[in-house]
Amino acid sequence: MNVLIVEDEKALTTEMELFLQANNFLCEICYNGATASEKIATNLYDFILIDLGLPDYEGLDLLKEAKKYNPEATCIILTARAAVDDRIKGLDLGADDYLSKPFSLLELQSRMQAITRRKFGLKHSVVALGDFNIDLTNRSISYKDLPVSGITKKEFDLVAYMLLHKNRTLTRSQLSEHIWGSVVNDDYDSNYIDAHIKNIRKKLNAYGTPDWLETVRGLGYRININS
Ligand code: CA
Repeated sequence: MNVLIVEDEKALTTEMELFLQANNFLCEICYNGATASEKIATNLYDFILIDLGLPDYEGLDLLKEAKKYNPEATCIILTARAAVDDRIKGLDLGADDYLSKPFSLLELQSRMQAITRRKFGLKHSVVALGDFNIDLTNRSISYKDLPVSGITKKEFDLVAYMLLHKNRTLTRSQLSEHIWGSVVNDDYDSNYIDAHIKNIRKKLNAYGTPDWLETVRGLGYRININS
């Protein structure tokens, strides 16, 4: 999943970036509101973290733009501890959560996970797909209790992303943007994503048939799940 971090304190930005990258998030950084505003209007993010105290921009205006151009993104506002009014305004404007500074990175991560579970209607972090189990916390796949070996980080990211957006067809460009962070061009993206899906299928097929992973001709891919 991709995250846009908008924060002018460079040390904090670096800390968040390193921590989130280590937790398999793809990060983009903006140190000012003007650049963030452009990115929000152009790209689609899974998470947007917005410092409300930006030197060049009204943080709440940036939040409004995020809600408008990135309606599916989870928005978390970062505020000074004393700024109660801003937090309330932010939540009223549709922020999904807030953190007051200083905050622990572990708290940031657990809030991001909690919102993700809520938003995608997951009761547990292990999801059954036929005889396969996908463990979103430990980032592993098993088949009838047998661990599936050889799944790479990016392959797992692809499966997890489709699983969160279950029963919905995702285009190759969408998968590319949210997992690799760039949409190069349609042909390139298609081949790239197709190659990854082919590898995933091959690895899963060594155990059982992943009939829940569907190729939607001319559109993209989806994971089908009934419950
Ligand atoms: Ca600031």
